[in-house]
Amino acid sequence: MSRCNPYGYATDAGPKHLMGGHYGPEYAGKQVTLRDGIHGPAVCEREADRRMRLVCEKGHTGPIMDLCGQHALEIMDRMAQCCTRCVWPDQARGVNEACDWIMTEMADARAKQDIVRYKRLEASLNDHARQMDELLARGVIIKRPLKLVEVS
Ligand SMILES: [Zn+2]
Ligand SMILES: [Zn+2]
Repeated sequence: MSRCNPYGYATDAGPKHLMGGHYGPEYAGKQVTLRDGIHGPAVCEREADRRMRLVCEKGHTGPIMDLCGQHALEIMDRMAQCCTRCVWPDQARGVNEACDWIMTEMADARAKQDIVRYKRLEASLNDHARQMDELLARGVIIKRPLKLVEVS
């Protein structure tokens, strides 16, 4: 068995599979580095003694991770985190992307002091926010917790 590798470091460019792979390394935040800036809990010095992966009820699986006992516990502790592929079905992702775009446009309108355009964009953003609420209410967006299971 190899070194404990809780967040996929050394296997690729970063914690690509953090939160189901939706977020890039920039979202790993504080887990990446300690105050000394050299390395943080994302890099573990212990030997892995188990292989595990995160799965959700729908069967979405994360990559297999080699883990030490402590990191297995740590990841299980964070089961409150939910499966991003369930939280962000395509439909919701589209709305979310539209929101991102609108916010960029709003910043641009503000910079140009184009109040009329800004107001229109703001209304559109509120509209999209309502759509997101609706998707959540209709159960299209589902917060489904992940379970850490052992693989052989
Ligand atoms: Zn570890
Ligand atoms: Zn899922």
